[in-house]
Amino acid sequence: MSRAGRSLLVVISGPGGVGKDTVIEQLLKRNPHLCYSVSYTTRPRRDYEIDGEHYSFVTREEFEQMAQADDFLEHATVNGNLYGTSAARVEAAQRAGYDVILKIDVQGADQVRQRRPDGVYVFIAPPTMRELIRRRIERGVESEEEIQARQRLAEWEMSFADRYDHIVVNDTVVRAVGEIESLLEEDRRLLV
Ligand code: 5GP
Repeated sequence: MSRAGRSLLVVISGPGGVGKDTVIEQLLKRNPHLCYSVSYTTRPRRDYEIDGEHYSFVTREEFEQMAQADDFLEHATVNGNLYGTSAARVEAAQRAGYDVILKIDVQGADQVRQRRPDGVYVFIAPPTMRELIRRRIERGVESEEEIQARQRLAEWEMSFADRYDHIVVNDTVVRAVGEIESLLEEDRRLLV
């Protein structure tokens, strides 16, 4: 399907702690034609998470069977856990006319880019790396070592930014959401 088709596939990546979840939550709230593709993961469920809503939580064996059956549009290991995007879920949502948002890491985005060059690729960046660290420290849940390890991971993730169609700085959520809405609107206009 080309971008001129009925709906867009929107791939969103960015370093951990940059605020992807909040930005996506706002985008979904404000745009009823957008829908989120729930990923599969082997990561343990966090207390506040709902199976089937935040993720579909599966065992490693189940995940590997799905990968073997080619059920994933992409899949990758992030922080030692497996994550994958269901090809069937994306297809069903696009068939129903929704623009579909994927929140996936940079390795997953590389795979989707091969299979779906028609996608819109958005990288969410922090205003500065210092600000990213400051936000993490403010959350106050990580040790100094964890912060440093995540910092190295964030720098690696940032090195992928120029592979994306758009880099959006999350200085404030309202502004970042507005910018993404405008660029999606523009993409739709350009390609109809
Ligand atoms: P968390 O476990 O904190 O929810 O997510 C950790 C990382 O996994 C995030 O960077 C997120 O973008 C990535 N992630 C979530 N779902 C998927 C997926 O389906 N595929 C890939 N490749 N990455 C994912």
